[in-house]
Amino acid sequence: MNGTALRTLSEAAPLDLVSDFPAIPTGWAYLDTAATAQKPAQVIDAITRAYAETYATVHRGVYQRSADMTLAYEAARRRVAGFIGGQPEEVVFVRGATEAINLVAECWAGTQLKAGDRILLSTLEHHSNIVPWQLVAERIGAHIDVVPLTADHRIDLDAMAAMLTEQHKLVALAHVSNVLGSVLDARRAADLAHRQGAKLLLDGCQAVPRMAVDVAAIGADFYAFSGHKLYGPTGIGVLWGRTELLDAMPPYQGGGSMIDRVTFARTTYAPPPARFEAGTPHIVGALGLAAAIDYVEGIGLDRIHAHETALVREAREALKQINSVRLFGPEDSAGIVSFAVEGVHPHDIGTILDEGNVAIRAGHHCAQPLMDALGVPATARASFGVYNGPADIEALARGIERVTRIFG
Ligand code: PMP
Repeated sequence: MNGTALRTLSEAAPLDLVSDFPAIPTGWAYLDTAATAQKPAQVIDAITRAYAETYATVHRGVYQRSADMTLAYEAARRRVAGFIGGQPEEVVFVRGATEAINLVAECWAGTQLKAGDRILLSTLEHHSNIVPWQLVAERIGAHIDVVPLTADHRIDLDAMAAMLTEQHKLVALAHVSNVLGSVLDARRAADLAHRQGAKLLLDGCQAVPRMAVDVAAIGADFYAFSGHKLYGPTGIGVLWGRTELLDAMPPYQGGGSMIDRVTFARTTYAPPPARFEAGTPHIVGALGLAAAIDYVEGIGLDRIHAHETALVREAREALKQINSVRLFGPEDSAGIVSFAVEGVHPHDIGTILDEGNVAIRAGHHCAQPLMDALGVPATARASFGVYNGPADIEALARGIERVTRIFG
């Protein structure tokens, strides 16, 4: 790639934060942030401090350390609520987006839907926004419809408008596609769903690390994401749900913390969010997630978005120079570029790139129906984070040139 293009990028994408990330050695192009983000020292330090200095259980202890940890845990909940424009009591800590979506499928759809009702998904959904709905639909006799994509690989909201009926009780869509980076017009999706009386769940896994999200401004009903894709720890994620929806839902799991009063004759439950947090929670995970939110908000989500869209633009330009490369997704994708190299299996691309210290993901990305729609078994995917820069794009382009040389 030429020097002019690199200069344009460094002007448009001035973030230079790789030194915050101790697990990224010099010269390693980590381009798999859509799978999981590397962790900044600020998050690692918050986790270490919590275990090494302030650790105790929450919600139970009568001693000061536990009371302090409870305050920190609930402060993390408020931090998450502020980050996405919700209220603290609407924030349920879960293991990740997968658990969040399963929780809604089980406790909302499983109790509110009846035989003959319909659920609307899209072609590009991650398996974790498909399979939970299939499980519940099968159980209650509901049906699933699938919104197709536009020619430039976005969820086709015009098609969705034509497909929605009064039988549709729920629309569940990715806010940003983990394969294509396509950004949903979430406000329009909410309006379309609500016009037919359906609720909207957004899978925000790939959105929250890449753009400012305001669930109230969108008008969403449920919003799910994972901490580990947001520079936070694994094992912690968030289900945000409107108060009146959470209030009406039965518990997901039974155990400690989620109860009001237990007797063998009858047990009553705590109000949300505690109702959905059975057992000792991932205390330090919540604190680590709050530290991750401090980190990205310290940079600014708008700056992160500009940085990653500039990287996408430059990566697409660089890959377009290579004849045998086929690009997927829209030009303005958010931080994610999927591609294929003619005659080369994506796994071979990944292996050859790894030899050149470039880490990408190759496979179906837990989106097999999307692979079917694209007519490929798998894609290669480069996804960006705040630590990536022009050198990583250059390394990617050099690696792909090497792939084409090796495969002739
Ligand atoms: N949805 C999307 C769009 C994702 O990218 C992912 C993770 N690849 C998930 C859901 C599932 O997230 P987790 O595995 O952290 O539960």
